Amino acid sequence: MSASASWGQYRYRVGSSARVTPVIRELWLSPVEGAIAYRAGQYVLLGDTEWRIPQRAYSLANAARRDGRVSVLVTAVAGGVTSTWAHGLREGDEALLEGPFGTFGTDAAAPGRTAPVLLLGAGSGLAPVRALAQGLLEAQPGRRVTLLFSCRTQADLIGDEALEALQRRHRGFRYQRTLTRDPTAPLHGRIPARLAEVVGHLAGWEVYAAGPSGFVVDCAASARALGAAAPDIHTEEFFVDPQPWSDAAPAPATG
Ligand SMILES: Cc1cc2nc3c(=O)[nH]c(=O)nc-3n(C[C@H](O)[C@H](O)[C@H](O)COP(=O)(O)OP(=O)(O)OC[C@H]3O[C@@H](n4cnc5c(N)ncnc54)[C@H](O)[C@@H]3O)c2cc1C
Repeated sequence: MSASASWGQYRYRVGSSARVTPVIRELWLSPVEGAIAYRAGQYVLLGDTEWRIPQRAYSLANAARRDGRVSVLVTAVAGGVTSTWAHGLREGDEALLEGPFGTFGTDAAAPGRTAPVLLLGAGSGLAPVRALAQGLLEAQPGRRVTLLFSCRTQADLIGDEALEALQRRHRGFRYQRTLTRDPTAPLHGRIPARLAEVVGHLAGWEVYAAGPSGFVVDCAASARALGAAAPDIHTEEFFVDPQPWSDAAPAPATG
């Protein structure tokens, strides 16, 4: 598939919907007509084909494939309209993808770039950094890429075996997870606090952090403190759209 990304609206059909953690569903979607051309790290606006559901941003969780299939990791948000709808999608349902959007990952993938890359993701923030790891290693199989994934417990790991397999295939790729609520895990605690000990000095590295705002901001500060240059630190904050003031209570979560 072409790596040149141009904006458009694309109908996709759900091929599978799987609950990959207690709060995250992974949807695999196949193009109905044309496939979206995108770069690893970018996101789309996801909504329904009748425009009844507000569109929300979701990062594509895999590097572009020849068959055009894409995956998204959707965290259930209590009272969240679109995440609840997305959690209810099942095989055969259609969705509209608009995009692609964003520049997360563009620098690392630019021609001639060889700097080591540190990818940091928490929860569904794994999506764009997993896509980036796949894309970078596909283009440069020997590239030094480290992916640290933060989640609460073993039950919150996502695609752990596939990432382990990617690590076995690429000598330059290192994958590690930190379990924040499992003191028995080999690596325990929050990524920003453990970064120095796991990766050491970061001068000359390109750093990419994705997920909830607090996580991303703390990772960026830690990377800076460890010597990464400010222009080499890239962030994708999964902020929630502002809600208008209203007396109505948000609907209960069902996802
Ligand atoms: C670049 C980018 C990439 C992203 N990628 C991902 C991703 O890969 N995976 C992912 O899961 N998310 C991602 N997000 C977040 C995603 O876009 C949505 O914000 C998220 O799924 C919540 O959307 P929602 O429609 O379900 O929630 P909303 O309906 O927007 O509700 C959000 C919150 O507001 C509350 N609320 C709703 N209505 C009201 C009201 N009237 N009054 C008070 N409170 C209210 C809800 O209870 C909920 O807590 C990304 C965001 C950005 C910006």
